Amino acid sequence: MTSLFKNICTNINHKCALCSKSTSSKAFLCPECLEDLPWLRSACHICALPLSVTDTMHICGQCLKSPPPFDSTQAVFLYRFPVSAIIPKIKHQAGLHHTAWLADCLLKRLLHRPQAWPDAIIPVPIHPLRLIGRGFNQSTLIARYLSQHLQIPLLLNQLTKNKHTKSQSSLTAKQRRTNLQHAFSYHGPLIRHIALVDDVVTTGTTVKEICSTLRNAGIVRIDIWVIARTPSPD
Ligand SMILES: [Zn+2]
Ligand SMILES: [Zn+2]
Repeated sequence: MTSLFKNICTNINHKCALCSKSTSSKAFLCPECLEDLPWLRSACHICALPLSVTDTMHICGQCLKSPPPFDSTQAVFLYRFPVSAIIPKIKHQAGLHHTAWLADCLLKRLLHRPQAWPDAIIPVPIHPLRLIGRGFNQSTLIARYLSQHLQIPLLLNQLTKNKHTKSQSSLTAKQRRTNLQHAFSYHGPLIRHIALVDDVVTTGTTVKEICSTLRNAGIVRIDIWVIARTPSPD
């Protein structure tokens, strides 16, 4: 696991991770590929749904009407091509080389947006059976990269997924909520402020369920840090 992490943090080939063109020793992507990514520039401060640049409220109607159980979301990209083609790959060993540059983009976004730093970083967990099958949790790899570079403690194994649930993508909104009910538990220390890390937020059902668990455990402030945000269907 540790060597896997070291491998993803080093661009040993000095080649762009997308087009394979030669890059400077530290850059994961060439400037052209970097520029073409679907950067999320203007978004709701709470849930990261895209807003128009003229929207001065910085909070979407949905969050105003019904605030979610977290305080803010930082997402780097819209879940659009090529990010939408790459993120499914980081769940497999063969796509791991993409994890570091995606995590690095998230790190830069966080550093450019001054904020109160959390007391700890927690990755969205996967069920132990899925972990055995996959060999790693991509959210843990992203969280570890951020923890190492921001010098913020990483809390592993204290937030757990106890229910081996169906894939959320095939379910309706109501089924998604039922599917995840009581799926998570937290056995970690009582801390005030955490950042929850995931690769992508789609409907937000998973993070909402986790945040309810964390709130019940006494955690006061929760920030969501993700690589990509799926735009609302409407
Ligand atoms: Zn490139
Ligand atoms: Zn919102």
